Amino acid sequence: MSEARVLLVTGGSRGIGASVCRLAGAAGWQVAVNYVSNAAAAEAVVDDIRAGGGSAVTVQGDVGSELGLASIFSAVDGTFGRLDGLVNNAGIIGLPQRVDEISSERLERMFAVNVIGSFRAAQEAVRRMSTRHGGRGGAIVNISSMAALIGAAGQYVDYAASKGAIESFTVGLAREVAAEGVRVNLVRPGIIDTDIHASGGLPDRAREMAASIPMQRPGTADEVADAILYLLSDAASYVTGAALNVSGGR
Ligand code: NAP
Repeated sequence: MSEARVLLVTGGSRGIGASVCRLAGAAGWQVAVNYVSNAAAAEAVVDDIRAGGGSAVTVQGDVGSELGLASIFSAVDGTFGRLDGLVNNAGIIGLPQRVDEISSERLERMFAVNVIGSFRAAQEAVRRMSTRHGGRGGAIVNISSMAALIGAAGQYVDYAASKGAIESFTVGLAREVAAEGVRVNLVRPGIIDTDIHASGGLPDRAREMAASIPMQRPGTADEVADAILYLLSDAASYVTGAALNVSGGR
């Protein structure tokens, strides 16, 4: 069993997750870089970490399926034999639609990935990290969104509601495992310049929204990753159940 701490980042191949992986690798974490379909992007992240002298592996798996989650955790167990941190970062949005237009299929997938995937991953992490289960403690960071607070009317209320569920989950889990060495916090990104906007049919969204953001610009994935790394670190040893806006004042 290796001594360096192990971090699993869901959706670590691109965007915010990829920045978290790179920063964590540079900070000495051994990193499991999860992806669902873009193996090349995940491998590029792993290559960067290794080039900097760090340790990382790619881990394929769909967090929106029970089998996918099981295979992700069995890969982490097999490769590292320990787990010290989880970033529940994998998340999806949809095309802009009103609530009365959203299909059942879209709604179920949104909640399967954003909510149930994060919930199950946290369950697996607690089973490995909680002192109640013989673990040595650890930290979980869930990724919400400012959309959880403002509702995303006319765009993706289903996404906003899925992030609202993550917020309640974070508070409840944090209190449940606080005495077991596991801290659970969340970050609320605002408008961050990543691929997610193109996947929601609005590739220029980050740039177009700039004027509505108090800081007059979208954030970068690295700026969100810095906040996540802080919450994972021992510098946040008395922080649990907290929510940190990384939104340029939005
Ligand atoms: P992104 O650029 O679209 O990247 C999404 C990442 O998640 C990719 O690595 C993707 O893997 C992975 N992924 C998607 N579905 C998955 C699944 N079912 N199983 C495993 N991995 C999956 O997204 P992002 O903008 O970095 O967003 C990351 C998180 O921040 C999300 O939870 C998002 O809701 C949240 N957030 C983002 C913003 C923003 O403005 N960007 C704002 C608020 C909150 P592949 O590469 O294999 O496709």
